[in-house]
Amino acid sequence: MPRKSPRSRRTAARKARVPGTSRPRATPGRGRAAVRARTRANVRSAAAGHGAAHAGRTPAARRPGPKRTPAASLRGLPRPRRRTPSADPARLEALLAALDALYPDAKCALDHRNPLELLIATILSAQCTDERVNRVTPALFARFPDAKSFAAATPEELETLIRSTGFFRNKARSIRECCAAIVAKHGGEVPRTLEELTALPGVGRKTANVVLGNAYGIPGLVVDTHVTRLAHRLGLTREKDAVKIEFALMPIVPRERWTRFSHWLILHGRRVCIARKPRCSACALLAHCPRIGVTVSQ
Ligand code: SF4
Repeated sequence: MPRKSPRSRRTAARKARVPGTSRPRATPGRGRAAVRARTRANVRSAAAGHGAAHAGRTPAARRPGPKRTPAASLRGLPRPRRRTPSADPARLEALLAALDALYPDAKCALDHRNPLELLIATILSAQCTDERVNRVTPALFARFPDAKSFAAATPEELETLIRSTGFFRNKARSIRECCAAIVAKHGGEVPRTLEELTALPGVGRKTANVVLGNAYGIPGLVVDTHVTRLAHRLGLTREKDAVKIEFALMPIVPRERWTRFSHWLILHGRRVCIARKPRCSACALLAHCPRIGVTVSQ
């Protein structure tokens, strides 16, 4: 018997199928007829106003659920806003007046007697509390009274004296290099401009603004973690980066209040507008605050 070619075998199989019956399929419901039936059902559903895209989704499933009730701690308070409100001069003025009334004696919490001591204390305050820095600095400043002595200090002795402030090796290196630059370029005097200060090793804009505002009386906006958080919650800026926040606040806060404004926000951030659960119900700024991003408060 001669061997059949593949083509003739396929033709024979087609002929063997019973006329009027559809070809059997591996997955039921995937045939053209089933797809056409689903499409017709979707079109009818869309015409009835229920949306055609998702077959099987009933109108009841698309109905909005019950309204979410705010947490007990937020009841009675104005709803937090999601968007940063536009800079409203009247609101800002009210905010500044309220902060001034709240913290009339706000000042730098780092103990110091001159610009160099403030510079060193500010370097030590990174990732450390002001209280701890204030416990360390009396002995430190007694041992190293000027920039020259700091620059000549041995790493071991300096590290031992500042160990409890954390990151003591990096801080000791910053202090020695910074003081060496002050001696070499500025005759041992801490410079008075932002550009010169930020050119010193280990000194950023925040440290420079602390020194300018509190040691020299030159207005400086200090943006730390508290100022960052409050500037956002109070709707003063949407920026997240510290330098961008500083530049966003500069035009809306009067220059002569820059230093005090930083102290106000830092104090309010420590006492009332704390990071995890701000005390909105007891906050004197509530009437002026859009509470942006606040989801839980007390
Ligand atoms: S505690 Fe609440 S109301 Fe007060 S500043 Fe912070 S977010 Fe605004």
